[in-house]
Amino acid sequence: MSVSRLLIALCGLLACFAGARAAESQGPDPLAFSEVAPGVYVHHGHVAVQSADNGGDIANIGFVVGADAVAMIDSGGSVAEGKAALAAIRAVTDKPVRWLIDTHMHPDHIFGNQVFKAAGATIIGHRRLPAALAARAKFYKQSMRDQMGAALVDPVVVTPPDETVPDERVIDLGDRKLTLKAWGTAHTDNDLTVFDQKTKTLFAGDLVFLDHIPVIDGSIKGWLAQLPALTATPAERVVPGHGPVSAPWPQALAPESEYLKTLAADVRKAIADGVPLSEAAQTAGQSESAKWKLFGDYNARNATAAYAELEWE
Ligand SMILES: [Zn+2]
Repeated sequence: MSVSRLLIALCGLLACFAGARAAESQGPDPLAFSEVAPGVYVHHGHVAVQSADNGGDIANIGFVVGADAVAMIDSGGSVAEGKAALAAIRAVTDKPVRWLIDTHMHPDHIFGNQVFKAAGATIIGHRRLPAALAARAKFYKQSMRDQMGAALVDPVVVTPPDETVPDERVIDLGDRKLTLKAWGTAHTDNDLTVFDQKTKTLFAGDLVFLDHIPVIDGSIKGWLAQLPALTATPAERVVPGHGPVSAPWPQALAPESEYLKTLAADVRKAIADGVPLSEAAQTAGQSESAKWKLFGDYNARNATAAYAELEWE
């Protein structure tokens, strides 16, 4: 049999298998995941702002399969996405999904939490995640309802972690350990990374952006201060919160580092020169505009946040 005929035969068999499974469970179609390293799967979120069209599916989310159990990393931007992600895990393995790890509070990363809780997972996040979610849950549901529509957002029950990571914690999936690290305030005040020791894959959450302009919802000074320690992570590849599903480490950190340094320098100069906030928001960081998608959506907001933070240093 030729290679192409063999492939066609194999594909036919797999489609039949997948079809039988879907019919059996009556579940949603599995979300698409790529295996970026052995046992490490990542779904590529749209590089876009949440909308009804993309269903809030804008973040990279992933799962890691160990000998005993599975850990899901972020749950997606809707209940529907969470269900489709769970279906994708089930298409790969029957092992229990013991953990759902939240990298931080933003809706595109946590709106599917309830799906994994119902499936028996323990949700784990940064020590400051419970307070952040309690403070923002109502606002997140309102703002996402405006952007994505009621059908996608009304079913969401913002679900906090069951356990938190004060500093660092290792979880064992059976012959495979994940190091969870809680960072100081950077993208948010509750950023958590996940490092798969076996394949040296770093799930950075939104501590690393590629293609998608970095978004500051924590502290630009804090973020810049974390970069040396983040760079020192002994990873071979990173899964950024937004952008490609996998990129070489630590090279992947360079564009974001450049953006944050440029923005901070521009804002500090504006403050020193007496340029008002309204003007600085339009000018700071502009030399980076061609390098990033969604620059117009977030740069002025980042500059405003940086100005407020750096004004009194
Ligand atoms: Zn985020």
